Amino acid sequence: MRATGAADGAGRRAARAAAPLRVVVLGAGLAGACAAAAAAGHGRIVTLVERDELPDAPRPRPGVPQGRLLHVYLHRGLLAIEELLPGFRAELEAAGAVALDTGDLAWLGEFGWAPTGRPQLPLLSASRPLVEHVVLRRVRALPGVVVRDGTRVAGLRRGGPGGPAWWVDPAEGAPLPADLVVDATGRSSRLPAWLAAAGVAPAATSEVDAHLGYAARRYALDGARVAVPGVVVLQTPRDPSGGIALPVEGGEWLVGATGAGGVRPPRDPAGFDAFLEGLRHDAVARLARAGRPVGDVVVHRQTGNRRHHYERVRGWPAGLLVLGDALCAFNPVYGQGVTVAACEALVLRRALARGWRPGQERRLLRRFVRVAALPWAIATSSDLRYASAEGTPTRVQAALGRWTQELDRLASHGDALASATVARVYHLVGSPLLLVRPGLLVAALRARRHGYGPALPAPHVVAGPDEIRAARGSDR
Ligand SMILES: Cc1cc2nc3c(=O)[nH]c(=O)nc-3n(C[C@H](O)[C@H](O)[C@H](O)COP(=O)(O)OP(=O)(O)OC[C@H]3O[C@@H](n4cnc5c(N)ncnc54)[C@H](O)[C@@H]3O)c2cc1C
Repeated sequence: MRATGAADGAGRRAARAAAPLRVVVLGAGLAGACAAAAAAGHGRIVTLVERDELPDAPRPRPGVPQGRLLHVYLHRGLLAIEELLPGFRAELEAAGAVALDTGDLAWLGEFGWAPTGRPQLPLLSASRPLVEHVVLRRVRALPGVVVRDGTRVAGLRRGGPGGPAWWVDPAEGAPLPADLVVDATGRSSRLPAWLAAAGVAPAATSEVDAHLGYAARRYALDGARVAVPGVVVLQTPRDPSGGIALPVEGGEWLVGATGAGGVRPPRDPAGFDAFLEGLRHDAVARLARAGRPVGDVVVHRQTGNRRHHYERVRGWPAGLLVLGDALCAFNPVYGQGVTVAACEALVLRRALARGWRPGQERRLLRRFVRVAALPWAIATSSDLRYASAEGTPTRVQAALGRWTQELDRLASHGDALASATVARVYHLVGSPLLLVRPGLLVAALRARRHGYGPALPAPHVVAGPDEIRAARGSDR
């Protein structure tokens, strides 16, 4: 009997090894789409399950409420998506995304305007629905990928011996068998409840919430000439309201407003305009004034940094991974979520290419956590400086916060190296060790001794006769 059982077991293992790996990715946001791209190929069957009916053109959808708000795609994120889906950048640009260089942005930091006119990092600016549309179009065309939209996942069950590792239960229809499930259902992930139902110990969470409010409105510029590729008036702990304006496809601009604590930007158009006018510089307001609003003001309030420490859960079940916002979500003001999700997908792709085996999930989760570590440190060390954030910074967070402040100060007095270094680390293409390169330490010491020199002047934002017309328009 035992000999037969062992033979059966070996037979089953051999059959499983020969069978194609069934990967079910939950959620077709950018994290899920990137995870599906990472898993596709090599005969794998990848099912991407999404509760929304996915639009066949770039349009906001209910499952991604943040889609109407302005998104910045960090340089590292664009590189990562390109690596997952070669040709993505060209396709996005052909679809209308606007190319710009971070070295040309009009950027008002905590201490003044950053230097402009020196190339730093190329970016593409586009609405979130357009980016998602281009990514999903590519993912749908990958071998073995099936997108099941209009399908809400209602539960997740462990499979039995000889069967799949998991059963994914849609709200309607037959359960889906999976050898590997990747949860990418975002901030509202129900994974904690599904794990509890499967008898798995809960994961600890870390949270830093500066209680930021975010609002945005789209504008058509109708011939107004904008002299810069984008404007940022950064919020600071002393003045926790900020603004940002970036071009998107179709000749339009997205204008965003952020405020922490009691100064959140309002939804009503007059209040939104007044909020922009009240920023410490009117650069963003000028641009908005020069344009014609297209659509309503959209607001979003769920912006805290939150991570689930699934990698620490003992007895973590085989065949289950989590990435994107479902694992670690960031304050959106730092523009990191898409990049982290795409980089986690690259980690997944490498692990699958090396021959993933059940039992390696916690190691992989730890690698995802490593991807998110620097962005988490950047976001939380900044947010903990706000009065509206609960919590005390650790020594590392406090030191990182103080030193980046010093580099911002140097940049606003014309130090191009400080500006470029902060940009490289912020865009996740440079090691944080760059922040302490000798040239910067020497510059900081020199500035402490001899002063920082004159601050840089504000750049022109809306140029020529249009600027005058726009400014006049504001007096109407
Ligand atoms: C206001 C705001 C602004 C932001 N700005 C930026 C920015 O500038 N730059 C940046 O990089 N990031 C930004 N982010 C974060 C960014 O949107 C996310 O980090 C990124 O999109 C990855 O998210 P995700 O795919 O993990 O989750 P989501 O984008 O939330 O996608 C989750 C998907 O899962 C689906 N889903 C959920 N539950 C189920 C279910 N039960 N069954 C089936 N499907 C389900 C949802 O419908 C959705 O499609 C911002 C976020 C917010 C809130």
